[in-house]
Amino acid sequence: MRLIILDRDGVINEDSDEYIKSPDEWIPVPGSIDAIARLNHAGYSVAIASNQSGIARGYFTLETLAAMNVKMCHLLSQHGGRIDAMIICPHGPKDGCDCRKPKPGMLIEIGNRFRAGLSNVIFVGDNINDIKAARAAGVKPILVKTGKGEQAAAMLAEHGFDDVPVYNDLAELADYLLEHPS
Ligand SMILES: [Mg+2]
Ligand SMILES: [Zn+2]
Repeated sequence: MRLIILDRDGVINEDSDEYIKSPDEWIPVPGSIDAIARLNHAGYSVAIASNQSGIARGYFTLETLAAMNVKMCHLLSQHGGRIDAMIICPHGPKDGCDCRKPKPGMLIEIGNRFRAGLSNVIFVGDNINDIKAARAAGVKPILVKTGKGEQAAAMLAEHGFDDVPVYNDLAELADYLLEHPS
């Protein structure tokens, strides 16, 4: 079983420093929805691990987050795609939880849920904290340059992550994975 875990904001949808607070603000990155569907069709299970501290900060509610998910899943279904699991961290930076990236909690939980050997699992993020979480969980980190990824790409070396593969976006990564079945 091939499992790929995705960060949400900046990987699947456009990110904003003002947070993504409503379904209207949830705008897919060009090609990302189709990329997820293509991965599904090639046999990948696709999961999401996303920090959503906007909930702890009171910027939006779990109900609003659910409404964003409905929009995402509706767009996916138009491409014949799906998300197999989604875990979010609703906490803030000072809550001391085990799930907020760069901690590996969400990635480990998804790996357990799918009974996947973590070393074969890919985690795609746009942020240095995504790479740190992947390394801490023992999964394979990949950086995309969408969202905050351009900035993160410039910081890989100083964090000792210069071996992390970098792709322009999720569509380019999907192209690569589908052309190189493992
Ligand atoms: Mg992100
Ligand atoms: Zn948390």
